[in-house]
Amino acid sequence: MIKHHFTVDVEEYFQVSAFESRVPRSDWGRFESRLTESLSRLLDLLARHEARGTFFVVGWVAERHPDLVQRIARAGHEVASHSWDHARVTEQSPPAFRDSVRRAKYVLEDLSGAPVLGFRAPSFSIVPGREWALDVLIEEGYRYDSSLFPVRRPGYGYANGQRDPHWLERPIGRIAEVPPTTLRRWGANLPAGGGAYFRLLPYALVRAALRDCERRGAPGTFYIHPWELDPEQPRLGVSWWTRVRHYGGLRRTLPRLERLLGEFRFTAIAESLPHLADSLVRA
Ligand SMILES: [Zn+2]
Repeated sequence: MIKHHFTVDVEEYFQVSAFESRVPRSDWGRFESRLTESLSRLLDLLARHEARGTFFVVGWVAERHPDLVQRIARAGHEVASHSWDHARVTEQSPPAFRDSVRRAKYVLEDLSGAPVLGFRAPSFSIVPGREWALDVLIEEGYRYDSSLFPVRRPGYGYANGQRDPHWLERPIGRIAEVPPTTLRRWGANLPAGGGAYFRLLPYALVRAALRDCERRGAPGTFYIHPWELDPEQPRLGVSWWTRVRHYGGLRRTLPRLERLLGEFRFTAIAESLPHLADSLVRA
């Protein structure tokens, strides 16, 4: 039976990219932290279902909550990097990106006591034209990336990317790519890997996508955020569309996760990496 990847982007509710214009980074320190409780819910849930996961942690969060990173690692999960300060790659210069991924890796390795192999860009922001970020990741010692979302969406997406985990060949070396799961229907890739799609669309979408992965013999990659398990989080004054995407269906997350973890088996990305087929794709 195939083990899929259960992944968590560990960030606070006020660090969501869509809130950037309302919540400047300089204000982050003034917000109430709500991560401990929602992350505990996730860790309990995974423990009950005997599932492992990969936790992509924002460095800024790790520095303020070293205990949480240690709890994740002690529970047997993989700690990976979600950048230092949740800046999108599309808004960074290569040197700024390098500083961010280097600093996050250093702090997370120090806290978890294990090598940090993986990276996920905030808002899947390694988009066409930003492939230099993959070279920086290789140079900084990362072994895999999980940022190329093979969908066509305004603002993000790597539309022509492969849908299953694969190796990317770059001039300076190779890096594994582990894209969030999509569902192929009507000639298009539909996002079916988690997050808002998991809360707002029918549960059957994610289930069908993971079943398709099993038929192909490839692990799927599901993602969720701790703030999606926190229906009581303070509401920020954002546009109605952003409200729908971020506050819609929050009460559905936990029961749906129970169902998902009951129907499928999950593990950390690092565990399936050695089994990744040896085929190379040029990026
Ligand atoms: Zn994020």
